Amino acid sequence: MLSQSEIGIDLGTANTLVYSKNKGVALNEPSVVAIDTETKKVLAVGKDAKEMIGKTPGKIVAIRPLKDGVIADFDVTTDMLLQIMKKASKKAGFTIRKPNVVVCTPSGATSVERRAIIDAVRNAGAKKVHVIEEPVAAAIGAGLPVDEPVANVVVDIGGGTTEVAIISYGGIVAAHSIRVAGDRLDEDIIQYVRKEYNVLIGERTAERIKMEIGYALLDHERIDIEIRGRDLVTGLPKTVNLHSYEIQEAIKESLLHILEAIRATLEECPAELSGDIVDRGVILSGGGALLNGIQDWLSEEIVVPVHLAPNPLESVAIGTGKALAYIDRLPLLAR
Ligand code: ADP
Ligand code: MG
Repeated sequence: MLSQSEIGIDLGTANTLVYSKNKGVALNEPSVVAIDTETKKVLAVGKDAKEMIGKTPGKIVAIRPLKDGVIADFDVTTDMLLQIMKKASKKAGFTIRKPNVVVCTPSGATSVERRAIIDAVRNAGAKKVHVIEEPVAAAIGAGLPVDEPVANVVVDIGGGTTEVAIISYGGIVAAHSIRVAGDRLDEDIIQYVRKEYNVLIGERTAERIKMEIGYALLDHERIDIEIRGRDLVTGLPKTVNLHSYEIQEAIKESLLHILEAIRATLEECPAELSGDIVDRGVILSGGGALLNGIQDWLSEEIVVPVHLAPNPLESVAIGTGKALAYIDRLPLLAR
């Protein structure tokens, strides 16, 4: 059970969430920090900082300190965690002074990358830091019986990484982590619009296009939207009409990479567990699970049932929080 000063943190490339016992998910904010480049002061974190991406004057930069699921800028990550833990403690009423923390790490992270995550959480004020593999957290958060001897298959499509894992009896039986996920789809869209229309669009516009008219590789009724960017020839603002078929083409290759990672993981499944997968299927979590049509497309491709986690954007955070109950079995890395 969680005591007041035990919290779970999902430090994601796109979003950081804090789970506390009495509030559940107490905080969910984009992993973005706005910094004054002259004074190095943190001006805003989370939603407020994300609003600033690509819109700030020269001396303010909005930074995403995590990339591909791991820390790209250590000091900024620490600052962000500090602010986020402060905010969460106010909301949820846990004592910010030295909480014990469970934090997840991507299953593909190196030991150095893992260590950086632990150190950043500790520098932000944690007493003990426990780590849990992200797909295990996602599975626990989605309510799967991870400590039973059955195959639980999780596909978590986040901002930076897609994690695919087969979990049975509390451990990972097979896993693949690839650095192709939501951010890559956004980049694909930016590249496409640049190449096809000679128009530059920002990250936030690309993300909006993906959410509104992005489709997995399925037949669907075409949707059109109007977007704005900067004409690369004239340098002036320009309006472009986009439709969902062209965006589907633009993100196709990345979606096929994700499919490939799922196939590769399923191929490594021990024969004794294969039957479970046919019966129980695969669970999708992470924000990428919300892409239009992805559930149907994947189930067609891998020919097993594909289910959506009850709350895809919160599964990992809920799992880290619940994992506190299993804390004795997690590697204790604090000193
Ligand atoms: P992380 O764990 O890496 O922080 P999340 O699980 O929070 O990532 O998912 C964030 C990703 O999900 C982003 O790339 C975001 O654009 C994407 N996403 C969120 N909602 C949708 C949606 N409705 N359709 C497609 N992608 C979405
Ligand atoms: Mg995540």
